[in-house]
Amino acid sequence: MSAFNVAKFGGTSVANFEAMSRCAEIIENNPQTKLVVSSACSGVTNILVELANGVKDETRRAELISKLRDIHTDIMSKLNDVSSIEARVDALIEKVATLSEAACIAATPKLTDHLVACGERMSTHILTRLMQERGIDAVRFDIREALKTDSDYGKAEPNIEATKAAASEKLVPLCKQHVVVTQGFIGSDEDGETTTLGRGGSDYSAALVAEAVEAAGLEIWTDVPGIYTTDPRIAPNARPIPEISFSEASEMANFGAKILHPSTLLPALRHQIPVFVGSSKAPQEGGTWVRQTVESAPLFRALALRNNQTMVTLRNPRMFQAYGFLANVFTVLAKHKISVDLVTTSEVSVSLTLDQN
Ligand code: ADP
Ligand code: ASP
Ligand code: MG
Repeated sequence: MSAFNVAKFGGTSVANFEAMSRCAEIIENNPQTKLVVSSACSGVTNILVELANGVKDETRRAELISKLRDIHTDIMSKLNDVSSIEARVDALIEKVATLSEAACIAATPKLTDHLVACGERMSTHILTRLMQERGIDAVRFDIREALKTDSDYGKAEPNIEATKAAASEKLVPLCKQHVVVTQGFIGSDEDGETTTLGRGGSDYSAALVAEAVEAAGLEIWTDVPGIYTTDPRIAPNARPIPEISFSEASEMANFGAKILHPSTLLPALRHQIPVFVGSSKAPQEGGTWVRQTVESAPLFRALALRNNQTMVTLRNPRMFQAYGFLANVFTVLAKHKISVDLVTTSEVSVSLTLDQN
């Protein structure tokens, strides 16, 4: 096991100069953190997704690109010396502009991934430089060299073995000498083409990378001090949970708690990596520890809300004391690759919920 931690910072944590400075302070306060996984600056991925869908109205397209430029140049204007990164960030904005035009002619999943990946590629240039200016020995690493995936653009699946091999060869040696800053959300396929893991995928990236480098711990820094009993944006009297098991936290993430990408805990669970979730705005408030086993056992740990569900109810008196009915229903669903979340049955009816997709 590597003796270091992986720390992931979400979009709001790297939204502007002050937010990025708080991230740097968290890293300075924990010398065990050697690998930093960053999201795009807040709002950037939404803009990139809109552009990738093809914005035909030229004025609107120019407006979005100038918004993108402003977000990044505003942070760079507060740095002392951006000579090493300015041209790179500019080149990425230019790339976004070119790809956005191409998307108006033919938007494809592959082009979309190339385009939306620019968000994390830009934020990591800036975060690395900001850390360097504070005296941290930071280097930027392009995670596409290590996080290997299939070619399912937009929701790529990681190749765990290939990722582990590449991380051992390229990433671990670098982490032994520097604090490495890299991108969440993005990877590359066998042909070296850019892929993404799906919206909110930086949490998952951080966990995959933590698994690949056999990290001692994974820190998820976000805008709330931990996992709450329910979404604090919806229920103001929700409370932070000091500790939660991997299975409970996975269940919450899968059932709609946006705090973690649903797949995040799988790599951590496979390698028994303790996960900490805290607020980069208020690290002193502590947060939630996600572990294999926890001591407390409340009646219920938390509530999650999942929107946009479809419920299908099948009712047939012939189900009474019959057998194989559910097997037949699930065979049909399996044939169409439809995943079922909740099921309730009685003797004559079965109801199930499906994602609306
Ligand atoms: P990041 O950009 O850091 O990844 P996200 O916006 O993806 O942050 O996730 C953090 C948000 O998740 C919180 O601001 C909160 O509104 C929402 N959330 C949903 N359910 C929960 C929960 N049970 N506990 C805490 N936050 C939750
Ligand atoms: N930037 C990506 C998104 O907004 C990934 C992430 O932040 O987790 O979906
Ligand atoms: Mg998130």
